[in-house]
Amino acid sequence: TDSDTADEAVRATCDDASICKRFATSKGYWNDPYIQYFVRQTGERKAPEINRGYYARVHGVNHLLDAFLKKTQCDCQVVNLGAGLDTTFWRLKAENTLPKKYFEVDFPMIVARKIHHIKTKPPLSKPLIETHSADSLLLDGHNLDSDRYCIIGADLRDLPGMEEKLRKFHINTELPTLFVSECVLVYMTPEQSSKLVHWAAHTFHTAMFINYEQVNMADRFGQVMIENLQRRQCNLAGVDVCQSLDSQKERFLSTGWESVNALDMMAVYSLLPQEDISRIERLEFLDEKELLQQLLQHYSICWAVKDTLNLGISQIGF
Ligand code: SAM
Repeated sequence: TDSDTADEAVRATCDDASICKRFATSKGYWNDPYIQYFVRQTGERKAPEINRGYYARVHGVNHLLDAFLKKTQCDCQVVNLGAGLDTTFWRLKAENTLPKKYFEVDFPMIVARKIHHIKTKPPLSKPLIETHSADSLLLDGHNLDSDRYCIIGADLRDLPGMEEKLRKFHINTELPTLFVSECVLVYMTPEQSSKLVHWAAHTFHTAMFINYEQVNMADRFGQVMIENLQRRQCNLAGVDVCQSLDSQKERFLSTGWESVNALDMMAVYSLLPQEDISRIERLEFLDEKELLQQLLQHYSICWAVKDTLNLGISQIGF
């Protein structure tokens, strides 16, 4: 059916994200020793502005995530929604900053692929086994559940189904919990994503939600971005051309979150430490600064907080 085709196209976007991250790391933008096990080839060259954009994206999300782990002293959970082939679990393990439990949710088909990579590659499976105590490690074709890492196949648009699986694998609604969605909500209708963030705010008393996605799509540049995605038959139910930083914030403020911040990625880029900017701008020559600006003004990072325990997570920012 059309909706199967659209979902299939959405699933394919997880390769895009990993391929771009793999390329940028091969150029030295940042270090990720694990992504090579999910994407073998470095792939064709990506434009410098794309690589810089990915740097800002990864830096931005990691900065907020690390701040949450620090505030909660890792006595918390992380739930990555639409995680794709994300490698954050291995980074946190290597840095010794794992939360109590790290959850990921994606379509069952993507989860099966990710689990296959983990099962067959010791650099991926070893850290997982090292963080597991009992002999009850669950690692079949469709599920992974260990003490510290759990991957769930579910549809983010089916909240009862997803919640049932999270509870089956012992999510603790009493623990401070961080939700991360990186280029995911854009593939759902505004109603579906509102329900998801509403569910998160009402199921966990102390929580933070980091959302990274497209914004300000009404101009010519935004139209071209949308056309590119449409050409691939992606279901872009969540692309609202009127979506601004304010409407990003409104989605959270109207669903039970206490405080919300949002920045476009050009602002995040400008706030990078000067030494980071100098370093990455030396990696590849970029003639047209305006191209970078235009691109980054069309992406945003938004973070919402509900701090019932008064842990101070509402102070987290750049
Ligand atoms: N977050 C990862 C990253 O940034 O590297 C992957 C981003 S990729 C653009 C979008 C991911 O969201 C895909 O892996 C896709 O399968 C997942 N996704 C989109 N809609 C979903 C849904 N309704 N249920 C579960 N996963 C979904």
